[in-house]
Amino acid sequence: MISENIKRLEEKILKACELSGRKREEITLIAVTKNQPVEVIKLAIQAGIKNFGENKAQELRDKFEILSDNIYWHFIGHLQTNKVKYVIKAAELIHSVDSIKLAEEINKKALQFNKKQKILLEIKTSDEATKFGLKDEKEIFETANYCFQCSNLNLIGLMTMAPFTNDEKLIKKSFEQLRKLKEKMNNEGFSIKELSMGMSNDFEIAIQEGATMLRVGTAIFGERNN
Ligand SMILES: *Cc1c(COP(=O)(O)O)cnc(C)c1O
Repeated sequence: MISENIKRLEEKILKACELSGRKREEITLIAVTKNQPVEVIKLAIQAGIKNFGENKAQELRDKFEILSDNIYWHFIGHLQTNKVKYVIKAAELIHSVDSIKLAEEINKKALQFNKKQKILLEIKTSDEATKFGLKDEKEIFETANYCFQCSNLNLIGLMTMAPFTNDEKLIKKSFEQLRKLKEKMNNEGFSIKELSMGMSNDFEIAIQEGATMLRVGTAIFGERNN
């Protein structure tokens, strides 16, 4: 039952906040609805969820057309430049900017929509070949500087995925790396506020390390068929 899952999840989030001396209001819960039908998303809206995440461009566009009142959509998947046009209207925040080329295209499309698009840089904090994101620090700063100069981009934070492992130390290391990068960037004049990190299996560790946005699918909707 979705509302019960959300209630249980909220209790765990609250507990993790208390343990690390943080306030619940500092953290946005994003329900990841990839592969979930609109009827299921409506149940989550009824249960009080306001932020939703999708990882496929056309799926986001289609769901936004049906469900857009009083909720916010986040694009969290790998984004190809030719698909930016599908997400630009719907996305409150694009979490997965991982190249200057992509930033350039988002800026261009945002200009057409007369929108200042909020974005995060996706950072690769693990060595898994299947994961995307910027890794090299020089490249990260170059990309951030580029975004800063784009009139229709607003770079507000960083996103990462922890490695797929049960080793909590490795997960913690990955989130810690993102938090330290944020501090370093802010010391150099950026204004990085958001840390999008933590999923169903590791959101408690992410909260300890300063997450401001959690992206949770399975713990709300159950196992996906993919
Ligand atoms: C699917 C997905 C999530 C949610 O993962 P769960 O383990 O189901 O909570 C979070 N972030 C991204 C980028 C995803 O693709």
